[in-house]
Amino acid sequence: MKKFLIVIAATTAVQSLSAQDVKNLQILSFKTKKETMDFMKKTIAPSVGVKCSYCHNVRDFPSDEKNHKKITREMMLMTQRINENTIRRFPMSAEKAVLYAKENSDRFLEELKELVAIPSVSSDSNCLGEMKACAKFVENAISSIGFDRVEMVETKKHPIVHGEWLGAPGAPTVLLYGHYDVQPVDPLELWETPPFEASERDGRLYGRGTVDDKGQFYLHLKAMESWLSSSESLPVNMKVIIEGEEEVGSESLEPFLDDNREMLSADVAVISDTSMIKKGWPSITYGLRGIAYFQIDLKGPSQDLHSGIFGGAVKNPIHALTEIIGKLKDENGRISIPGLYDDVVEVTSEERADMAELPFEEELFLEEVGAPRLSWESGYTPLESLWCRPALDVNGIWGGFSGEGSKTVIPSEAHAKVSIRLVPNQEPDVIGDLLEAYVKDRSENARRSSVPGGSFPSRVCGRGQSP
Ligand SMILES: [Zn+2]
Repeated sequence: MKKFLIVIAATTAVQSLSAQDVKNLQILSFKTKKETMDFMKKTIAPSVGVKCSYCHNVRDFPSDEKNHKKITREMMLMTQRINENTIRRFPMSAEKAVLYAKENSDRFLEELKELVAIPSVSSDSNCLGEMKACAKFVENAISSIGFDRVEMVETKKHPIVHGEWLGAPGAPTVLLYGHYDVQPVDPLELWETPPFEASERDGRLYGRGTVDDKGQFYLHLKAMESWLSSSESLPVNMKVIIEGEEEVGSESLEPFLDDNREMLSADVAVISDTSMIKKGWPSITYGLRGIAYFQIDLKGPSQDLHSGIFGGAVKNPIHALTEIIGKLKDENGRISIPGLYDDVVEVTSEERADMAELPFEEELFLEEVGAPRLSWESGYTPLESLWCRPALDVNGIWGGFSGEGSKTVIPSEAHAKVSIRLVPNQEPDVIGDLLEAYVKDRSENARRSSVPGGSFPSRVCGRGQSP
């Protein structure tokens, strides 16, 4: 990871240098050790002819961690000199790629719209043909930008597409991940425009999959095309893997990764399935919450009863279930399941300070989600609650009668779907057992069942924490 981040920082330095770039470089350089210094010295300095501002030579940087501040200052000075003197001499310039991307942006957008138009709903068994067509589209998209070994591999469910470009010997290899499948589109009536017709409104593109994840991985593919078409090369080696089961648990991905370890080996993996914190503010996500998903079933009378005859003397299972659900979170936004926070790794003060500097505006966020108000765990900020804390949500609740008109029924059962977002070091199975104990404690007629698709939280590393 480190090596790659440094490549970004170094590449940034020789292309153009904004205040933000300098800041990024500074943050990275605080983490650096001897390896970084060697890298700077061997790779960057000779290729651009930079000399240290102190001794006017490409010099040995101290490897001692205590000297980090000094190193940082030296790197900053070095960066400035790179920027001032040698941009033109560095062989890999993003300028041409950026120009190509700008000139072709209309075509890129039209292609993305074509991709969005394929209804690749992985959970819908009626969409098998569309899933294949979508995988084929992705295969063609990867081939057409000049990748080798492009292949669409059949799995038990939906095909996985992969390809590679290894024309940068000595440079790091990046494995890019994305997924071409999308979520179901229900409820259809809430769509302003058809879900599979990507349409532009107010500078945004609306359509199923545009931001999860067709837009993201297509953007990366087009960035690579821009490099390859304008410079016939990329600054790093690239391997790409785009799967079709992300929205249904990625069952085929793990065996595929196991079977192809060598082919997919890389210095760093980039997950192209995240978002930017703000328009024009590129963001690196270094951790993702996991999930545990359950259904809670509560049994009442052995059959549906008439409320006119039995109402008042029989416990209604919907009431019983909502009592349980209503108490899953307390008034401070904390989850009430005993033991749920036992394994939670607390967010560090450094991370909290970093997050506090991010451009999060509560009002804008509220406007974006269209909710009447925000609600988060007390003692934390909204961003900390979104990124670093567990979150419980009831995803659906049903039972009894919900059709047109009335039916005076006391239902025999009630159900709810509940998801819990997990943070390091929580484990889906442990959380499931805790939820089960909690539910059983409150009603002997309730039981929970796991829903397939739970996943562990993950993080690369954060400031002040080891990976
Ligand atoms: Zn996604």
